[in-house]
Amino acid sequence: MNNLITLPLQAVGIVLAADFIAGLIHWLEDAYIREDTPLIGKWIGRPNTIHHHMPRRMTRNSWWQSNWDQLMAMSVVLVGAAILGRLSWQLWLFAIIGGNANEVHKWSHRTRKENGWLINWLQDMRLLQTPHHHAIHHTNPKEVHYCPVTNVVNPVLDTLHFWEGLEWLLEHTAGLKRQPDTSVPSQGTAPQWIQELRRAGSR
Ligand SMILES: [Zn+2]
Ligand SMILES: [Zn+2]
Repeated sequence: MNNLITLPLQAVGIVLAADFIAGLIHWLEDAYIREDTPLIGKWIGRPNTIHHHMPRRMTRNSWWQSNWDQLMAMSVVLVGAAILGRLSWQLWLFAIIGGNANEVHKWSHRTRKENGWLINWLQDMRLLQTPHHHAIHHTNPKEVHYCPVTNVVNPVLDTLHFWEGLEWLLEHTAGLKRQPDTSVPSQGTAPQWIQELRRAGSR
């Protein structure tokens, strides 16, 4: 009987934790990583910049193209846990949700027709993040609602000014400044390569 209460509660907590970690990664990318960032700029900064300039373009990406980086990170976590003999259903659930967080994000950008009845139903039931909720992240200056999986975590973090606080802390301890986002009109203009992508017929 006790398990009937604690197991679902644990599962909900794990989904929210995975949403938070996916939001943390998204915030790091938005705040500090650009296409010219050494080592990871080409692989992580560039798609992120494209997404802010052309949000619908990600809907063309395959599951692997959308999720490879977080799937790799979660694989490292799972392999590490296996080596230490600490694999559990909780960790598997965390890795599955965390590894597919960008897929759920992509569903927020697809039309209802593209998503099909099951995803539409999950969004309508608020079991997954709704497109309306995610649209707030894409509203200038694009500094809130970084978590992509549920509608639950973002309002809490934004009310606490959590990301703003982290940025303040990093600036005042490590001198790390948030980078301008060229998709926000007051922060710059689209780089040449984005304009070329647009001319090539991208959305
Ligand atoms: Zn973003
Ligand atoms: Zn988005």
